[in-house]
Formats: sequence, structure tokens, C-alpha cells
Amino acid sequence: MLYVSTRGHADRKHFCEILLEGLAPDGGLYLPERYPQVDGATLEKWRTLPYHALAFEILSLYIDDIPADDLKAICAKTYTQEVFGTPQIVPLKKLEDGLVLEALSNGPTLAFKDMAMQLLGNLFEYELGRRGEELNILGATSGDTGSAAEYAMRGKKGVRVFMTSPHGRMSPFQQAQMFSLQDANIHNLAVEGVFDDCQDIVKAVSNDLAFKRKYRIGTVNSINWARLVAQVVYYFAGYFQATKGNAQKVSFTVPSGNFGNICAGHVARMMGLPVAKLVLATNENDVLDEFFRTGVYRVRSSADTHETSSPSMDISKASNFERFVFDLLGRDGARVKQLFGEQLSATGRFDLSAEPAFQTAAATYGFASGKSTHADRLETIRDTWKRFGVMVDTHTADGLKVARSHLQPGVPMVVLETALPIKFAATIVEALGREPERPAQFEGIEQLPKRVTVLAPDVAAVQAFIAAHCP
Ligand SMILES: *Cc1c(COP(=O)(O)O)cnc(C)c1O
Repeated sequence: MLYVSTRGHADRKHFCEILLEGLAPDGGLYLPERYPQVDGATLEKWRTLPYHALAFEILSLYIDDIPADDLKAICAKTYTQEVFGTPQIVPLKKLEDGLVLEALSNGPTLAFKDMAMQLLGNLFEYELGRRGEELNILGATSGDTGSAAEYAMRGKKGVRVFMTSPHGRMSPFQQAQMFSLQDANIHNLAVEGVFDDCQDIVKAVSNDLAFKRKYRIGTVNSINWARLVAQVVYYFAGYFQATKGNAQKVSFTVPSGNFGNICAGHVARMMGLPVAKLVLATNENDVLDEFFRTGVYRVRSSADTHETSSPSMDISKASNFERFVFDLLGRDGARVKQLFGEQLSATGRFDLSAEPAFQTAAATYGFASGKSTHADRLETIRDTWKRFGVMVDTHTADGLKVARSHLQPGVPMVVLETALPIKFAATIVEALGREPERPAQFEGIEQLPKRVTVLAPDVAAVQAFIAAHCP
């Protein structure tokens, strides 16, 4: 399998070549040159596999430069009951007839990002070991991504993590999760500023090419194809649990920000998984809902990006969305380059409403969308607790709210649970007047010693820190 850029660059690359890279050389995102097709007989064979074996089957369709036995071992070591809490790894929780949650957040940091990041950690260690190289991962986080990356990379050979976060602005639980890690290869940098300052610093360091090369700076952001393909697996696993046979269809609703999670659903559907609808749920930051309703993609300024109670979906533009547009426009790289590389940076928007492919997108690709607000979130958390005794987090609540407008008789609706409520306790207390349940391993986490360095919002200070911590 070879990978192409969404902006039409002539290069064709193998999986391990793009594993440690971010963007393609032309600024595009990597996608496989075709989607492998999965027929009924294959689905039947996969239906009864344990999660790690299913992961191996799917990943091996996309990875041809890791020997099968090695890839099998990586999957087996990643998706274990010890790490993800249950033998199914992503068990379904029934709410009522035709409506279930798929639990993706029982990994080490209690958010779905662990599903992909845990695999990425093992793939990085494997590939860096094979090449005899090292990598320094520099990132910016306001919560979920940073902790998932740190828990995936802790103790891994050849990898160091330098994670910037806005000083004092993450929830106490999120701070405790990250700062209590004592591993020598994990470095927490609390920047005296806001999240945008952290992101600007990461960009500036990455644009300093001499520094980047000397210190082998890399990233683990959500445009990484390996993260995306790892997420494809749980769409299959959810489908198998929700159905008895392959004649049945299911729909998925996905709380969305950067379009990473739901893009994996799109890939699964393109491979032939019998998915009726892919319902995209946003919070007040409704860039993507607006696109699927109107055909207009309009990125927001930071002043126009709301701080909400489902903060992991507070985005101004959706970094993975270019992948879907590439497919929508018949994989016309020149067109995507014009839209994302030129028009979007010049005008902040583009309009596909007159495009025949957009007008038939719902039928062809199954996409539907909706939006949820703070009031919807509180109401959904209350209602789900009262009627089913199930506590959902704020992002999952956005998904549930939107899912209810897209139910179809005879088609099970699977809502992806993207985090546990304990990560967003303040809103749970607002909705229910009580604290969320806390998994036993996180008891007393706020009292553990913290390992964090506070730095000024200054590129040179971050560079000096990295230099001082690389032998
Ligand atoms: C990251 C995240 C999302 C958004 O996922 P995308 O892949 O960016 O669309 C939703 N919910 C939670 C809890 C998250 O951490």
C-alpha cells in the first residue's frame, strides 16, 4: 500500500515513511492510494476475532513494511485488558432499544485518544529502534491529547516528549494526570499564557529548520495517518457487537472537533463496512455542522472560537477535514490544493454548495450533522442519568443529543463515548449536583508529587529547555 498527498504531490510513500512525518511536502495530508475492500466473507471471519487480532487484520491492509509477526506482536501488546479495562476493549453499553454507547475511554487517560495513541507509542518505539534513531516529540495541549501522548510514550526507548500546556488552565484532574508522571523521558512545560501561545511556540520551533533537524523534533498530532487508521478498528468492533449478521446496517454518531475520529468512520465505510449514517456532532463551535448543512466551510478566528464545556471540540478549523474533501472531489489534488492551500488562507472560507458531489454527499458518504449547546449538554447528562443510571461526559452528551435527531427504525445507532465524566467534573456537578465516579487507579491523584517546569511564553526558553534535556 502506498500513500498519496491530498494536494497532489507526485511522491508515493510507504507506511513507515509517513509514520514519523507530519504533513506531506506540499502541505497536504497523507491518504492511502485506495481503500482496501472488505467483502462479506471477510466480515464473517473478522466478526469473532478478539480486538487485537481484528486490529492486526485491518492494519495489515495498510502496512506492508512491517513484517506480519512483528505487527501482530505490536497489536497484541497494545490492546490488552490490563490497559483498556475489559476483554472487549470497546464494549457497548445499551441505553434503550436501538441506541447504544461504544465505550472508547477506558484506556490510561480516560479519553478515546488512547485508542490510537497507545498503538502509536509502540509503533514509534519499534520503528525508531529499527532505524537506530531518536525522536523528540514537541506538542501543545489543552488536555486530552497531551496526556494521551505522554501515557503512550512514557518509558519508550528512543522517544522523549516535551508537552507545553497553558499554565494553570487545565482542569485539576488533567494537570494531575500529566504532571504526576515521573518518567525521565516525559517533560511537562507549563507556559505562562494561553493555549494559542503554546501552539505558536510549537509552530515557531518546528519552523526553525536547523533546530528541528539538530534535535530531531517530531509531533503526534491528529493528522498522523497511523492514529487515524488505528481508529478505523473500533468502527468494525462496534459494528460486530451491535449486529448479528452482515446484512444489518448500523449508524454512528461521533462528537467531533478536528474531524479525526469521524474521518476514521468514513474510511471504515469506504472499505465496505455496512454503515448507514455517519452523524457528526459539534458543540457551539459548529464549523463542521455548518459545512454539512450548507456546503460552506468557514474557519473561525480565535476571537470567534467559543470556550465551551466540551473543550476538546473547541476548534476554529478542522485539521483532518481536508482528507474528506479530497475524496468528495474525486481525489482531485490540484483542486484541494487550490481550496486549502490558496483560497482558505486568502479568504478563510470556500463554498462547495454548487458542487454536484456535495449535493449527493449525504447519500454517497452517509454524512449527517447536528449541533449541541451547553444547555443541551446539561439536559442530556441529566436525562441519561435519570432514565438509564448512566453518567456521560460532556462530549458524549453532545453526541447523544445529536444522535436522537437521526434515529432510523431498524438501524442501531452507536454513539461513540469519547471521554469519562471524571475528566470534566465541574459540568457534571452543574448538571447533577454530584461528583462523577472516579476509577480506582485515579484515587488521590491530585496529591501526588508534580513534575512540571513553568516557562515564559518564549520560543527561546522552550528551545533552551529541549537542548538541556537532550544528551
Ligand atoms: C479529541 C476529542 C474529541 C474530538 O475528536 P476529533 O477527532 O478531534 O474530532 C471529542 N471528544 C473528546 C473527549 C476528545 O478528547
